Amino acid sequence: MQGLVFNIQKFSIHDGPGIRTTVFLKGCPLRCQWCSNPESQSGQVQITYDASQCVQCLGCLHTCPKEAITTRQKRIIINAQKCIGCLQCVQQCPGQALSYEGKKREVDEVLKICLQDLPFYEESKGGVTISGGEGMSQPEFVMELVRQLKAHHIHVAIETTGYVEPSVFQTLAPLFDLLLFDIKHADDKKHREKTGVSLPLIQANLAWAMDHHLSILPRIPVIPDFNASLEDAQLLADYLKKQGLSRVQLLPFHQFGEKKYQLLNRPYAYQGIKALYPEDLEDYRQVFLDQGLDCFF
Ligand code: SF4
Ligand code: SF4
Repeated sequence: MQGLVFNIQKFSIHDGPGIRTTVFLKGCPLRCQWCSNPESQSGQVQITYDASQCVQCLGCLHTCPKEAITTRQKRIIINAQKCIGCLQCVQQCPGQALSYEGKKREVDEVLKICLQDLPFYEESKGGVTISGGEGMSQPEFVMELVRQLKAHHIHVAIETTGYVEPSVFQTLAPLFDLLLFDIKHADDKKHREKTGVSLPLIQANLAWAMDHHLSILPRIPVIPDFNASLEDAQLLADYLKKQGLSRVQLLPFHQFGEKKYQLLNRPYAYQGIKALYPEDLEDYRQVFLDQGLDCFF
């Protein structure tokens, strides 16, 4: 059983309780314009290109068996539709300008890495978090990985957008000790504009998880020009309260993903937009506190 994984981050302290290992899977149905992990969105292996390391030898053009590589203004352009992820171009690149995102990994291999930190999980009441992309985008792999982690009594969380086919969501969600459920907006039009998908499916899955008494931590990425106004906060607080939720985590916007857009040769919609910090969001947080929600960063 293999999954397409683009990162395994040890000693993670932001994706659930305690010290955790976060397994990042490729593939996401949303296209959030601020996404800090743009390499997570495609469900395929992707070739990245760092122009500053390129010695212009053009060896990659001649190596590619699919003619997926061209040049434009002294830059290497990779056609993702033609690329089959064979990595021949990466292997022969003398300047290390080419690299890749995403690697097929066996469940056993990922499990072995997760088990290396078992003492830290036990000591800190941590565990493993499946993230993405959409954590549920590779259901069979996730199911088997969770089964094996559970056999070692490891706390397992998943980060989900909630935009998941209900039959998949209802199969996977109950397997987890904690759902880190992204809530981005309560206004469907605004949600569609910036993420590319609408809200009803997400809201239906959240309601189902609440009805089934699953452990849920809703998390709101607070994004300028999207959901960062006090009116947006009020809409979100009302919605969470109505769902019967009692707590919410705020994730202030940051610029950590900017360089990745360059490497993927993609435009970045949030270029130059200032990062937010907890001290910028005290009034915003207060809106949730006033609704009786335990709101924290
Ligand atoms: S093989 Fe590497 S160094 Fe040569 S042109 Fe391609 S990307 Fe640049
Ligand atoms: S990974 Fe293979 S198919 Fe894709 S661009 Fe490189 S050589 Fe071509």
